[in-house]
Amino acid sequence: MIEMDGAVNTGNPAAALINGLPVAVYICDNEGFITTYNEFAKQLWGSKPVNGETRWLGNVKTYTLDGMLVSPCQSLSAHSLSAQTDALEKKFILERADGSRKYINHHTSLIRDNEGLISGVINTLIDITAQKEDEGKQAMLAAIVTSSDDAIISKTLDGIITSWNHAAEKLFGYTEQEAIGRSITMLIPDDRLSEEEHIINQVSSSQIVDHFETLRQHKTGRLIPLSLTISPVKDTSGNIIGASKIARDISKQKQAEQQLQHYARNLEILNSFGKSVAENLDVQTILQKVTDATTQLTGAEYGAFFYNKLNENGEAYMLYTLSGAPKEAFEKLGMPRNTDVFKTTFRGEGIIRVDDITKDQRYGKYAPHHGMPKGHLPVTSYLAVPVISKHGSVIGGLLYGHSKPAMFTQEHEQLVDGIAAQAAIALDNAKLYEEISIINARKDEFIGLASHELKTPVTTINGYLQIIERSLAGSDRNAGFITKARVQVGKLSNLISDLLDVSKIITGQLPLSYATFNLTDLLAECTEVMQQTCTTHNITVEQPEEPIIVNADQQRIEQVIVNLLSNAIKYSPQANEVLVKLNHNNGQATVSVQDFGMGIDPNDQKHIFSRFYRVEHVAAHISGLGIGLYICNEIINRHGGHLSVNSQLGHGATFSFQIPLN
Ligand code: ADP
Repeated sequence: MIEMDGAVNTGNPAAALINGLPVAVYICDNEGFITTYNEFAKQLWGSKPVNGETRWLGNVKTYTLDGMLVSPCQSLSAHSLSAQTDALEKKFILERADGSRKYINHHTSLIRDNEGLISGVINTLIDITAQKEDEGKQAMLAAIVTSSDDAIISKTLDGIITSWNHAAEKLFGYTEQEAIGRSITMLIPDDRLSEEEHIINQVSSSQIVDHFETLRQHKTGRLIPLSLTISPVKDTSGNIIGASKIARDISKQKQAEQQLQHYARNLEILNSFGKSVAENLDVQTILQKVTDATTQLTGAEYGAFFYNKLNENGEAYMLYTLSGAPKEAFEKLGMPRNTDVFKTTFRGEGIIRVDDITKDQRYGKYAPHHGMPKGHLPVTSYLAVPVISKHGSVIGGLLYGHSKPAMFTQEHEQLVDGIAAQAAIALDNAKLYEEISIINARKDEFIGLASHELKTPVTTINGYLQIIERSLAGSDRNAGFITKARVQVGKLSNLISDLLDVSKIITGQLPLSYATFNLTDLLAECTEVMQQTCTTHNITVEQPEEPIIVNADQQRIEQVIVNLLSNAIKYSPQANEVLVKLNHNNGQATVSVQDFGMGIDPNDQKHIFSRFYRVEHVAAHISGLGIGLYICNEIINRHGGHLSVNSQLGHGATFSFQIPLN
């Protein structure tokens, strides 16, 4: 066996040539024994054939491309020799001793002697592993492109489509044959043609256009929202020769986004609607808010809320609010009549939602209009939801219209139904509030009337008691009773005056007569008079020497001071001191009355200036009507001043008021 290794150095140029070839070459004799091989063959086999071994290739195995082991007698050279066929060629896999594999292209060529007899065979093995691997990669890529869910298209820089996968076929509706060779502009809507120019510019300067969201058109003209990624395609020398485009259908994503936005918008409307309706007690405002919100939520062109009401005489009438149409559009049409369409709603028989009301069997049965009156807003889609109170009575109906058919969905129906239930509660509350306001007004009217009627007899009784008192001799034992009677009549008279004041305040008829006076004198006088009748408490006054002049209603300010002083005494039964202070600064005179009694809980402090409010646990054992502070607060407010309390439960209270200095 001749090993050509090192042949270059032997000085044999033919051997050097063969040994230097970048292909494996070996020769077998006519029995298939390897007689000669070159350097490249040794490299390819990964080992040398063992000298003298028959028909090699001991530890190098050969397989067909589909994996069948090839025995030496099945080898191409054996075949060539036995069939005496020149120039055979076949692809195999060589597995070397270390297990590594090579793809080879095996070529045989018979050697004949001078007599033409076959003396051997020249074998050429070309290593095609790299090419095979490349083919594998290509096939893999092609399979990926074919099976991809995204449309993958390639095009030249002139926009001519050069490849088109299955998903592109599905997405755009063109077959591969229809698409290849045509311009990419067939997919671009007219108003977006400029995008192509931009894309080509980007791609030409080696840039990738990534996740570009746009619209492209289907073969039928239908627009499809897409996310495009476009990359340059380069030839082997790196020149940009076209672009590959991956298009992902984002219709579902867009739909989901829109749906989300839609829900968010509805939620926003519902939230703000719920809050404002719950806060509102005015029927007309509630009706309008409900109508506006539901018209917006349903996308109706017109919405109306018809609300049944009773007037003072118990007669039924209807209030209504509109949205989306001017009031005049309804005014000449009158109220919904008792037709089959409206009956269902106003009898609370259920929701009506129809795609085309004019085709509904309930529609158009009654004279004179037989359908919508002339001049009615065009209504095709119709949705009507009864509004039912929690007691089960129908309090109204919400009606919506749209000039186009099939505009209302089940979602709209459910939304309005939900709001109708809320609206019913709000309207029930508003109705209750209205009723309470009426009763309250009647009560105020009664208080005004009763106190007015009581005032005259009480004044008369007081007068008679005075006469009797004067006519009795000092020794008369009835004199004491008369005095007590006069004290009680005085209290009664004060209560009646207070009640009269309350009713004057409510009706806005509490007159004030302004005059300039010295507040220091007034305070001294009030405390002195109070001290004369009070034996339990010592009233101390702290005030400056100089006069403090104010322009106010002296009698009303006196009323406030007396009220605060008597409260201080009344609500501090365990104490024996009341502290009164007067000072002035920043153009204000401040009077404060401090006691060391039971004090007021902060929760009650918020309410004590309201009409008829009395602190619960105190009310039972200390008499009063709960209107003194209400009147004081009103008087001070009317003077442009401010009345406040500072107190801690169990630690006394300080009431202070400020009024402007003259
Ligand atoms: P009335 O004294 O007739 O109840 P007012 O309007 O003067 O009515 O006072 C309202 C409530 O405020 C009283 O019922 C009482 O609970 C509380 N209050 C008023 N002044 C004082 C005070 N100085 N100390 C503690 N509680 C007071």
